[in-house]
Amino acid sequence: MDFQEILDSQKKFFRTQKTKDIKFRKDNLEKLKKLLSDNEKLLLEGIYKDFGKSKFDTILTEISFVKKDIEYYIKNLNSLSKPKKVWTNIVNQLGSSKIYPEPLGNTFVIGAWNYPYQLSLSPMVAAMAAGNTCILKPSEIAFYSSSAMAKIINENFPSNYLFVAEGGVPETTELLKLKFDKIFFTGSTTVGKIVYEAAAKNLTPVTLELGGKSPAIVSKNADLDIAAKRIVWGKFLNAGQTCVATDYILVENTVKDELIKNIKKYLDKFQYTEGSEQYTQIINDRNFDRLVKLIDENKVIFGGKTDASKRYIEPTLMGNVNWDDAVMQEEIFGPILPILTYTKFEDALEQISEQEKPLAAYLFTDNSAEKELFTNRISFGGGCINETVMHLGNDNLPFGGVGSSGMGHYHGKFGFDAFSHQKSILTKSTWGEPDLKYPPYTDSKLDWIKKLI
Ligand code: NAD
Repeated sequence: MDFQEILDSQKKFFRTQKTKDIKFRKDNLEKLKKLLSDNEKLLLEGIYKDFGKSKFDTILTEISFVKKDIEYYIKNLNSLSKPKKVWTNIVNQLGSSKIYPEPLGNTFVIGAWNYPYQLSLSPMVAAMAAGNTCILKPSEIAFYSSSAMAKIINENFPSNYLFVAEGGVPETTELLKLKFDKIFFTGSTTVGKIVYEAAAKNLTPVTLELGGKSPAIVSKNADLDIAAKRIVWGKFLNAGQTCVATDYILVENTVKDELIKNIKKYLDKFQYTEGSEQYTQIINDRNFDRLVKLIDENKVIFGGKTDASKRYIEPTLMGNVNWDDAVMQEEIFGPILPILTYTKFEDALEQISEQEKPLAAYLFTDNSAEKELFTNRISFGGGCINETVMHLGNDNLPFGGVGSSGMGHYHGKFGFDAFSHQKSILTKSTWGEPDLKYPPYTDSKLDWIKKLI
């Protein structure tokens, strides 16, 4: 595959100005939405073959998610792309000032495997809405999902506008050598650094959507039943293979037993059994083996059963965990939930602050002082109070990491902005010409300038 040739054709097409046309953008977004409906069976089959993800989960967290994004952009495109008039300061009178959002141009989106459709197509949709061309490289690890997207897009859109490049590290490495106007990457922090370094060679702006260990703090002031229910749902959705899943719980030690009892209740109730509608497989043998090594049998207080032939790991709770345990040395990204404790709320925040900044953080409490401390003291990409994961379902909230969990944001307006340049133009009238800024310089001109600025 000659990626340079495809990118050159996209550059040529971008220069025709067609992608900037609002009707063109809306028509193509509409077309993609229809293709997602028409090809739902293909999409469901692909992801099921990859890791047994059910129809319910795939529609909820992947296909509907992307369609919702498309609808948002179709509805809001006129206002998002409209030039915005801003106030013109006194030294620039007589004039007017406007900000023109313009597409960056030829973009490259690299997807992760864990939500293969959402994490590939949502950024691509934002790129389309902002008026760009796009080469999308989904993760080769979700092979059948990647093929489904390639089939749908490459058979229905011209490659000089949208193109799905399938492949793994060699193909991504080749693509990263090319000069794009924007690279949008979702994946691990390790590969994020490779992408950032490659982008730097061409001064290409990047959005890096990375991972990390996202904590859930459960205070003694929490509704412990709701806390357990919402943590369990967010954690075991997709078998824990969610970038914003709770990685570990930090619970006030006086309520630990009550919380664990409630968590066990919901684990039973939600029936995360092998092959069930609500549970997925571990994506591949490499990740299965990695996860199994993180389970310390002496610390398992629920679950712990595994089946390599089905790549099944039962939801597993580990108690009495401390920061030296293997499970606390890396992002878990699977159905293992370690429980750590604290005695003072500030200590819980301190433990989190000592780690790399996480992609998400959650707090369960009804205490307003704790809510305020959580919000203002620790740094994390985004999160929830008395909920997990759902913040990313609100298009009005920017989604992204900070520090080693990423840079830049997307979703809704923020996705549009991630693929746009804000071009500012000051338009001056040709009459009314104060002499102040022009030589020869004099003290009285300087006095006026001091007063005006
Ligand atoms: P990954 O970094 O291994 O792979 C991501 C993409 O990078 C894939 O398309 C892959 O082909 C490519 N890639 C892998 N190695 C490469 C290399 N050496 N050079 C160039 N490209 C390479 O990540 P993953 O396993 O697909 O996803 C898991 C990670 O992604 C977790 O850390 C998770 O937290 C994170 N994640 C973050 C978000 C988010 O929105 N912030 C979402 C999902 C996953």
